[in-house]
Amino acid sequence: MSSPPHRRVGRFAPSPTGPLHFGSLVAAVGSALEARCDGGRWLVRIEDIDLPRTQSGADRAILRELERLGFVWDEQPVWQSERAELYRAALNQLSAADRTYGCACSRREIADSAPATGGAHRYPGTCRGGLPPGRVARSTRLRVDAGQADVVIHFADGVQGEIVQNVECEIGDFVLDRADGQIAYQLAVVVDDAAQGVTQVVRGADLLDSTARQILLQRMLGLPTPSYAHLPVALDGNGDKLSKQTLARPIDTLPAAQLLCATLEFLGQAPPAALQHESQSAVWAWAARHWSLSRVPCIRALPAPVLCC
Ligand code: GLU
Repeated sequence: MSSPPHRRVGRFAPSPTGPLHFGSLVAAVGSALEARCDGGRWLVRIEDIDLPRTQSGADRAILRELERLGFVWDEQPVWQSERAELYRAALNQLSAADRTYGCACSRREIADSAPATGGAHRYPGTCRGGLPPGRVARSTRLRVDAGQADVVIHFADGVQGEIVQNVECEIGDFVLDRADGQIAYQLAVVVDDAAQGVTQVVRGADLLDSTARQILLQRMLGLPTPSYAHLPVALDGNGDKLSKQTLARPIDTLPAAQLLCATLEFLGQAPPAALQHESQSAVWAWAARHWSLSRVPCIRALPAPVLCC
């Protein structure tokens, strides 16, 4: 049965590149509470589209850890690796509308020829007018130009406030189908959020910079735009983002109530100190009654609690 249109649908979309760590738990807790606080539904999607980064068994380990912590999802989780046809159909739709082109450039060529903006390399448009003689296409890019679409994207983020990004100037033509044959995250996430009826995306602020690209793709594909809220990213003792790459500590040995309280504290919800000694379900009941997105600190990153990094 499909849900009434006003009902919220949130989601948590971990990449199974390692065990769940505190940084991803923040996104899981924030997205679940924000969906449920208004009687909405909450889904889990395993983002294993990036096969080279996927770690065998990490998907099941993440789901087990979520279960241990008392999360309940409303539909069977989906795996991006099983949804390639949906992504290819969206890519074909964009290509049929002349919004894409084949690109022969290697990363090296792009890095050497494009000025850096914000640490990233803007694609200089080398193959936009056609492939150079003798070269073959390695990847497919989206044509981002003001002549074809409104490339200045504005959105009101539920935590970070008003965001504006000119995708043409700050990002340029971006890859949809990678040189290794994998569909790019930006396209897969847009297709999945729409296919799953997601109405609100709550995730880490490290993805804030991807959101304008995703909104642009939604518009080009005629898909609805969900609301967005980007939570502070958790930093380790060195000031680096907690991630599987920086070997963030797995959290599966910490007592569930203590861990959930630490997450609520990180998200500005100020749970009472005694709550961490109560049952896991008591923590969830408290969180459901007290959750407010407006209390989440309006900042891109914060130190993680010492026990979690
Ligand atoms: N799969 C991404 C990650 O684990 C999250 C993507 C998203 O929420 O849009 O960081």
